[in-house]
Amino acid sequence: MASRVIPVDPFDLVIFGGTGDLARRKILPGLFRRFCQGQMTPESQIIGAARAEMDDAGFRQLVADAITEFGPKDANPKDIAAFLTRLGYVAIDAKGDGGWADLKSRMRDGYVRAFYFSVAPALFGDLAQRLHTNDIAQTDSRIVVEKPFGKDLQTARALNATLSEHFREDQIYRIDHYLGKETVQNLMAVRFGNMLFEPLWNAQYIDHIQITVAETVGVGGRGGYYDTSGAMRDMVQNHLMQLLCLIAMEPPAKFDPDAVRDEKLKVIRALDPVLPHHIVRGQYEAIGEQPDYRSAVENPRSRTESFIALKTHISNWRWAGTPFYLRTGKRMRSRTSEIAVVFKETPHSIFGPEAGSHRNALIIRLQPDEGITMDVTIKEPGPGGMRLVDVPLDMTFAEALGPDAQDVPDAYERLIMDVIRGNQTLFMRGDEVEAAWAWTDPIIQGWEARHDVPKTYESGSMGPDDALALMHRDGRKWRDVR
Ligand code: NAD
Repeated sequence: MASRVIPVDPFDLVIFGGTGDLARRKILPGLFRRFCQGQMTPESQIIGAARAEMDDAGFRQLVADAITEFGPKDANPKDIAAFLTRLGYVAIDAKGDGGWADLKSRMRDGYVRAFYFSVAPALFGDLAQRLHTNDIAQTDSRIVVEKPFGKDLQTARALNATLSEHFREDQIYRIDHYLGKETVQNLMAVRFGNMLFEPLWNAQYIDHIQITVAETVGVGGRGGYYDTSGAMRDMVQNHLMQLLCLIAMEPPAKFDPDAVRDEKLKVIRALDPVLPHHIVRGQYEAIGEQPDYRSAVENPRSRTESFIALKTHISNWRWAGTPFYLRTGKRMRSRTSEIAVVFKETPHSIFGPEAGSHRNALIIRLQPDEGITMDVTIKEPGPGGMRLVDVPLDMTFAEALGPDAQDVPDAYERLIMDVIRGNQTLFMRGDEVEAAWAWTDPIIQGWEARHDVPKTYESGSMGPDDALALMHRDGRKWRDVR
């Protein structure tokens, strides 16, 4: 099954923070892949803009090194050389006046204009303002902003207000790279492109839904930032919330940015507040040479969580009575992100109690090996009588797509192409982000008021034992992810 590549309109893309970690690891290697695939046409240009003094040649070398380190292993040197000719660099301080005239002189009329703010959010306002005062942004220019989008409702509102002084909502692309994953979009295709699932997609047939985003790494070099954030702000408020929305939303009338985002917003607004005893927070312990959480963030009294598990409900007709369990953490057993939609048991087992208990489950796996599997119950093969087993029906894309599977774009690549196409469906709208904070804030404020101290958990485990108990109390269990 060959994937089709439709070139996007030629563009001028400015990457503020073009020398930073995100640009080097994701954005620039991703653009290179789109260039090799013919989706980024050779007339397009990419301009790095950052504080470091550097010329075009210096930036091209930086990007060549980034492609070698983070790009495709089989990159053709001719392709790299051709891509580098599309790159330029301007030294700019977001808070100063130098460099802006140079940037303006490089922008071309008649091309899609996009500005990627791959810098600290504290600089978003300065960049937005200077793009205007220097007459670089046009009425159809787009800006792309990275997470974190605020640290609570108040700061998110302030950020939205600042950006909206200079850009309309339809020009602002708030990135949540989870939405750019192939499987996440496939989730929508499976739900809304098949007759099979939607009639069963409600509290009558679905027992519960669990969402797991587990990382094996610790806080690494981001300790200072992470300790002011924690798993709730860093992962739940954005990534897990977005996944929950796509799983739980009503079918939008069409696959159109505002129709989809209106439905997601309704889900967030229908989320119940989370009761304190439905939340488990954790901090990882040391393992081998690796320090424990508090040492890693150099804050021996830190009360920030590196793990969280919680149970919540969506108060609407579709989901009344179906719990949603979310968990995410660092230094966990495996690097796994998945959503499990666990169906109820059949109302009556004709095979008797010895057949055991069996449930269908639809597993949407984001990593590793993006794909979707459906656990179905069948007879165990052989002459041993009527014994039932659960087997996965595998819809792993690698098999369905064959050699083309490796051409499935990374989330960042897809999202940047969507920016150029002017399609906001997979980006968060301002009111969605604010609604997510409005749900998260009271939970965090509750911990702060109670001086809640996270439990410790073994590095390489799946979090504190209390997280298992959160499910066991309800007669359920977390899926065994490896
Ligand atoms: P970084 O510190 O590696 O890079 C920051 C970049 O901003 C550098 O290019 C630097 O020159 C530039 N910069 C700093 N101050 C500037 C100024 N005054 N004027 C102009 N440029 C300035 O940071 P990063 O890890 O690349 O992260 C960039 C943004 O992306 C942050 O908002 C971060 O939260 C977000 N983000 C990063 C990642 C990641 O994996 N690195 C993931 C998600 C979100």
